[in-house]
Amino acid sequence: MTAAMPRKLRVAVVGGGPGGLFFARLLARRAPWHEIAVFEQNHAGATYGFGVTLAGPAQDRLRTADPEAVDRLAAAMVFSDEQMINLDGERILLRYGAKSGAIARLELLQILEDLCREHGIVVAHERRITSPSDLLDFDLVVGADGANSVVRGLMAEQLGLRTRTLGNRFAWYGVAKALNPNGLSFKHQDGGRFIGHYYAYTDAMSTFVAECDEATWESTLAHLPDAERRKRIERIFEEELEGAPLVENKSVWRQFQALTTTRWHAGNAVLLGDALRVAHFSIGSGTRLAMDDALALCQALEACEDNVAAALERYVATRKPTRDLFTAATVRSFDWYEDIESAMRLGVVAFTRDFLTRTGRVDDNRLRDYVPDFYREHIAPLQGSLNREERP
Ligand SMILES: Cc1cc2nc3c(=O)[nH]c(=O)nc-3n(C[C@H](O)[C@H](O)[C@H](O)COP(=O)(O)OP(=O)(O)OC[C@H]3O[C@@H](n4cnc5c(N)ncnc54)[C@H](O)[C@@H]3O)c2cc1C
Repeated sequence: MTAAMPRKLRVAVVGGGPGGLFFARLLARRAPWHEIAVFEQNHAGATYGFGVTLAGPAQDRLRTADPEAVDRLAAAMVFSDEQMINLDGERILLRYGAKSGAIARLELLQILEDLCREHGIVVAHERRITSPSDLLDFDLVVGADGANSVVRGLMAEQLGLRTRTLGNRFAWYGVAKALNPNGLSFKHQDGGRFIGHYYAYTDAMSTFVAECDEATWESTLAHLPDAERRKRIERIFEEELEGAPLVENKSVWRQFQALTTTRWHAGNAVLLGDALRVAHFSIGSGTRLAMDDALALCQALEACEDNVAAALERYVATRKPTRDLFTAATVRSFDWYEDIESAMRLGVVAFTRDFLTRTGRVDDNRLRDYVPDFYREHIAPLQGSLNREERP
């Protein structure tokens, strides 16, 4: 008796971001007989944004699936467990119970691309997919093409696309300096409310995401050209930036589009990462969510012996419950930022507690492990009075 030949698939991965590359790598590692093509619109060495963070527990989970990949990524990260909360000059230094790693987005992509190449997958750069005719010859099409997914657009009707546009505006800048510790500053200035999210991702570079609410935008930045907006943010956050200028990389001020779909796949095409549900930067998890999706899809294919239709159903059944929890947490997080005016009326301790518990995933009891010093110094002794301090 001869053993059954493994099923051979022709797989198109649209998008060479963390989700698409990790999926291609995992699939090739498990089933080297598949033909896998990765299409990426950018040329090699180009991407948007600066550094991203990957929480420690997420790394541990991904490491069990692909220890080599996660170890190589971790070797290129800087780790921190600190974050300075600054509310109009009142500061609290948070020390988290677990460390997060930060890495340049470009370096992360290059490491994942190298890992793909080791399995014979060469990413086709400067290859933008624009129509269904680009994808006819494949048994499986993976839409890993990010927030503005073309694959999702091609199937929008079948997927039941829903969009919510947030009022807050943000821009993703960098700083040629390691800003230590990581921080989150909330400032009343120029008659508005401004937020700076920042963290070092090498010993010479930091990410700086600037944000303001809608009313602030209308009364200040909306009327300025891009270069003036950058200068205004440099002035407002001069202390945090230690006087350094902001660096741009497609750093356009925009509104976040919260996109969801009721279905995750149609025919032989399926979505993962930001193409599926865009992660908001305030939960700092979009990279690992995309990589977790990639892992779930790969595991579903394995469990279904590469039967595509069965695997796509299984992918949804196994991954959607976790994704739904994150989506709910994401909505609570960006809604908190959308109403930052109310939160900024609190004192710094109540404000920090409000911030830490905003997603509903962490309550006062979990703060004990999540931010032990803050819990011991501020929450345990004041819990009764904090409970009585209502938002105005
Ligand atoms: C301001 C900001 C800060 C963030 N900070 C963090 C953070 O600290 N930590 C974190 O985990 N996440 C962060 N994120 C989110 C994170 O960047 C995304 O969630 C993550 O990159 C999603 O990965 P992905 O692989 O799904 O998509 P992407 O990384 O967007 O990759 C999609 C790829 O597809 C390519 N592409 C698109 N269309 C086509 C096409 N038609 N044909 C071919 N190629 C195409 C794109 O060029 C891109 O390379 C942040 C996001 C923003 C906006």
